[in-house]
Amino acid sequence: MNRAHDRLHALFGEIAALRKKAKAEGVFTNDRELLECSSCGLMEDVVSGGLLITYRPNTPIRDTGLRFRELRGGRFRCPECGSIVREIEGRDAVKAKSRKRKA
Ligand SMILES: [Zn+2]
Repeated sequence: MNRAHDRLHALFGEIAALRKKAKAEGVFTNDRELLECSSCGLMEDVVSGGLLITYRPNTPIRDTGLRFRELRGGRFRCPECGSIVREIEGRDAVKAKSRKRKA
């Protein structure tokens, strides 16, 4: 049992290291929701290859090169306008959208 535990522990360590490496290379690791600023509309998206980009609404999807900055407590600062974006709001907005579609 201890051996299995040790192997699992090592595996989790490897996964954490891979996630860290992927993040450093700009890959979206799916450990949170994609963000959208409710003030200026700057949105995150994931393009082929898993790279995380941001783009402005009503424009062709082209990476602005800007990235939301993670703060404490699941909050992010919009790099475009400086507004605070909460991860949970994005999740609720997606839920609200899908509810509207069903109705
Ligand atoms: Zn903004």
